[in-house]
Amino acid sequence: MSANTRFETLGDIARKRGNLAVGCSGCQRRAVISGEWLDRMFMVQRWDSRVAFVRQRIRCSRCGARPDLVRVTHQKPTMDRPPRTEAEWRKLAARLRG
Ligand SMILES: [Zn+2]
Repeated sequence: MSANTRFETLGDIARKRGNLAVGCSGCQRRAVISGEWLDRMFMVQRWDSRVAFVRQRIRCSRCGARPDLVRVTHQKPTMDRPPRTEAEWRKLAARLRG
């Protein structure tokens, strides 16, 4: 993994079929989120999609804390069912925004 990872955008990651591994220091939850899926969501929200900023936009789905670890991975996403419709995306984004 290069030292420039934090300057990559979700679009860069999605193109390389990468995903993001996030971890929560509050409850120790670990998850891998699809890069393509996050890229779409950040686009819908018009959020800064550079990896360094991603952790400011997402929250732990279990305890609501900010994730303390966000890195690019090629592990399979652990999220079972990404939303398919625009409405589902917006609902998810609203939830993530908290
Ligand atoms: Zn947590």
